[in-house]
Amino acid sequence: MKALNSMKALNSMKALDSMKAMTQRSRVTFSSGVAISLATWLMASPAFAHHPLDGKLPSNFFEGFMSGMGHPVIGLDHLAFVIAVGLVAVNRAWGWLVSMVFVVGSMVGTGIHLQALDLPLPEVMISLSVVIVGALVAWGRKVNLLVLGAIAVVAGIFHGYAYGESVVGAEITPLLAYLLGFGLIQAAIALGARAIAQKLSPDQPENLALKLRFMGFAITGFGAAFLASAVLG
Ligand SMILES: [Zn+2]
Repeated sequence: MKALNSMKALNSMKALDSMKAMTQRSRVTFSSGVAISLATWLMASPAFAHHPLDGKLPSNFFEGFMSGMGHPVIGLDHLAFVIAVGLVAVNRAWGWLVSMVFVVGSMVGTGIHLQALDLPLPEVMISLSVVIVGALVAWGRKVNLLVLGAIAVVAGIFHGYAYGESVVGAEITPLLAYLLGFGLIQAAIALGARAIAQKLSPDQPENLALKLRFMGFAITGFGAAFLASAVLG
C-alpha cells in the first residue's frame, strides 16, 4: 500500500513535470537539446569530415565549383552560421550587407590559407561564431550594423580559412571555381533565410520574433555542441 502511494505521488510529479514541459522555456530547451544531440550524432558520423571530394583536390572548373557549393552545406557548423548571419539583421535597411560582408570575409579567409598563413584555433573560432551569432538572433535586439559587420567579417575569415583546406595546391581554374561556388551558395542561403523571415513579418511581427528566437536558440545549441567537441576533442 505504501509502495502504491509513493507510485501515485511519483505519477502526479510526472504529470506536473509534463505540464511544466508545455511552457515555452522548456520548448526552447528542448529544441536546443535536439540540436545538441543531432550535432553530437553528426560529429560521430563520417559525414562530419565534410569535404565533398573526399580530400581529393578539384582538378577542373566543375569539380571546384561543386566542391565549393558543397562545403558550406555539408559542413553543418558552416551552414548554421550562414543561416544565422542571414537572420541576424532581418528587417533592417542595409542588413543584407552583413551577409555579404561575411561572404567576402570567407573568400579572404581562403586566401589567407592559400598564403600558408596559420590562423589560431580555427575550429574553436568557427563554433564560437555560431554560438555568438545564434545568440544574437535569439536575443532579437537591434545591434549596431558596424558591430555585426565586424563580427561577420572575422567569422567569414575563419570559415573561409577552413574552406581553404580543400584547395591548397589546386590549379587556378578549380580554385576560382571553388571560391565562386562557396561564395554563391552562402549568399543564396543567407539572403534566402533573410527573405523568408522578412516575408513573415509585415502582418505578424510577434510571430516572427518568436520564430527567430527558436531558430536562434537552436543555432546556439548547435554551436555549443560543436564548440564542446572542438575544445574537448
Ligand atoms: Zn568545413
